[in-house]
Amino acid sequence: MMQDQYGRKLNYLRISLTDRCNLQCRYCMPEEGICTIKQQDYLTFDEILRLVRIMAGQGIRKLRLTGGEPFVRKGVPRLVQQLCAVEGIEEVDITTNGVASRDIDWKQLVEYGLHGVNISLDALDPIIYQQITGVDGLEQVMQTIQDALAVGLRVKINCVPVCGINEQEIISVAQLARNYPIDVRFIELMPIGTGARWKGVDSRQVMDRLESVFGPLEPAGSANCSEEAVGPAICYRPEGFVGRVGSISPMTHPFCASCNRLRLTADGKLKTCLYYDEVLDLRELLRNGATDAVIEKRIVEAVYDKPDRHRFQEANKEMSEPTGDGSEQKYARNHKKMVQIGG
Ligand code: SAM
Ligand code: SF4
Repeated sequence: MMQDQYGRKLNYLRISLTDRCNLQCRYCMPEEGICTIKQQDYLTFDEILRLVRIMAGQGIRKLRLTGGEPFVRKGVPRLVQQLCAVEGIEEVDITTNGVASRDIDWKQLVEYGLHGVNISLDALDPIIYQQITGVDGLEQVMQTIQDALAVGLRVKINCVPVCGINEQEIISVAQLARNYPIDVRFIELMPIGTGARWKGVDSRQVMDRLESVFGPLEPAGSANCSEEAVGPAICYRPEGFVGRVGSISPMTHPFCASCNRLRLTADGKLKTCLYYDEVLDLRELLRNGATDAVIEKRIVEAVYDKPDRHRFQEANKEMSEPTGDGSEQKYARNHKKMVQIGG
């Protein structure tokens, strides 16, 4: 089991399959777009599989496929099938905007072993949805939610409330959990890339709004939800709800002390903390003929060095200001946009 210098066990890998996206969410993708990865620089699915096998040997148990938008890349179902079959991997999930997944055969994905899907949905008003994403896609997202539920997938909704964009949508998005067995999680906006240009609504305010409409909220058990048992979401079940509502508060209640996550970018870099730059070029190792043993050793070393915590709070006024605690001397600050990391 991989462990870092602070004794945290790392068993969760989030894999970005692409930095491209069919949407342009205002807080995620810059208006001017991004300089996308060159075709030859993407990790191939075989390279991803090799890395996952190596990392599963070191204790990675859970995988999440993300993007950009993962379904923009061709062949994702086959990759899911292969990842689910890797010895040691216990859970494979996917995060999608629910628009690019129009032609996905969810039943087949379940047969392959997909465990759950997180679907991003920031508004239920079609006009606001389009203002945020640039696309008239709400109907398709709702269809994706139905399709995923119909085949028995665990479905979670990710909603990022942003001041001046969708704060008025919090209650209607939460209402989705009234009739559907889903978790609607409100995520605090992090000042990453384009996100730094906006002000998020903090979780306390979100909870206040939810309680003003649904009454007092007591934390709901995590028995049905393996990720919550170790993950950062706190969930509540308002009276009369089939599903749950919850919050993820990286800004006001950082969960760094129990962070079990690593990230792999679409061009093959290992990232050990959202706040900091990538720390290891795995593509270079793979393509320069490194053996599995060498790759494993380099990963284990990089993971050991995982920074203790993010410093968004100290730095969220101005991303280029030093945080003042010397961490810059050891680690370089993240320079990527969220669409290039995948959340
Ligand atoms: N395209 C897929 C999707 O939208 O679900 C996967 C990638 S997207 C980057 C993953 C999640 O990150 C989305 O739920 C999105 O709302 C969230 N996100 C993007 N920028 C963020 C930010 N600055 N702070 C917090 N969450 C953010
Ligand atoms: Fe694309 Fe997801 Fe970012 Fe929206 S949040 S721009 S769907 S990557």
